[in-house]
Amino acid sequence: MNMEAIFLYSDDFERFAYPADAPFKTERVRMTRDTIQSMGLLGGAGRTEHTPVPAARTELEAFHAPAYLNMLKSVEQGHLDVEALRHGLGTPDCPVFRGLYDYSALACGASMQGARLLIADEADTVFNTAGGLHHAGPDYAAGFCYMNDVVLAILTLADAGKRVFCLDLDAHHGDGTQNAFFDRNDVFTLSMHESGRTLFPGTGFETEIGSGPGRGYCVNIPLPVGTYDGAFEKAFTAIALPLLRRFDPDVIVMEIGMDGLAGDPLAHLHLTNNVFADIVRHVQTLNKPILATGGGGYNVPNTVRGWALIWSILAHAQTPHDDLTLGMGGVMLENTEWAGGLRDRVLLSEAGDRGAIDHDIAHTIETLEKTVFPIHGL
Ligand SMILES: [Zn+2]
Repeated sequence: MNMEAIFLYSDDFERFAYPADAPFKTERVRMTRDTIQSMGLLGGAGRTEHTPVPAARTELEAFHAPAYLNMLKSVEQGHLDVEALRHGLGTPDCPVFRGLYDYSALACGASMQGARLLIADEADTVFNTAGGLHHAGPDYAAGFCYMNDVVLAILTLADAGKRVFCLDLDAHHGDGTQNAFFDRNDVFTLSMHESGRTLFPGTGFETEIGSGPGRGYCVNIPLPVGTYDGAFEKAFTAIALPLLRRFDPDVIVMEIGMDGLAGDPLAHLHLTNNVFADIVRHVQTLNKPILATGGGGYNVPNTVRGWALIWSILAHAQTPHDDLTLGMGGVMLENTEWAGGLRDRVLLSEAGDRGAIDHDIAHTIETLEKTVFPIHGL
């Protein structure tokens, strides 16, 4: 495997912005890039930057309906009607703004380029912080997502004969991705997210495990409000890791939304960026090419710092400073705060909360061990 990590970046990501009152901030991409560049984590051997180009219309049609793509073009010119609303457009979650088609096509082009770089063995790791738009469906928009770059990248890989494991760590269920591959067994989708009982999109329960030949190749780990690092990592090592090893994919796609971080204004998990770093490290031990994307993350400074940390690990460029600050920042109860370096300080949950959370997650693990593991001979 070519030991090259590629960061995908274009100034064009910031030519477009969601309306000012929308929590989705396109400048997260540029801010992440500025952060890693200022820390010396970009450029030099093994850590390069590539400039993505927008996906062509024909490429987008690998997943999206032509009529829907036409509609995306026409709504941004002001043709918003009931039909568009029926496809999720013009809602508070998917507002119409000038450039929404071009922004989405560029985000998709970047993830597809990442897939192609891995197929050509020009890199072993690619990070597209503008990607992770996992809610969009073939003909509808949802949850700030108009086009689904995760699905398009996986289709690019699958069309090249690659078996893909998609590990979705966003606080929200990766419903668009799950639905696209629900009956396939060459693409494994696993989503760890805040339970649909308390968070959009209201799906992603442990009973959703795929259908037909895809039965057992879709796994959901719904998490209770307040889930903390130790509980999140437990769920990962108990369920995701054995399935990853067993499935033995050619490529691992990771959706690394940062809305699971404590203090995110939309979600209710209680994670720090340390657990995402740990999970990336676990995944790296499998020695497979990794296509990582961004996703949610609505506390902008925390999200940017989290992605910068993830890049440092993806690029095997972790700074000694970060190892030093780990665990030295003391304990915070409610939110994370920059203590220097890229890592969050350790968060403490109430002991009572932990008991209830541990109990809930242990039950989910037990269920999946009974329903999914036997399908894979585990
Ligand atoms: Zn999210």
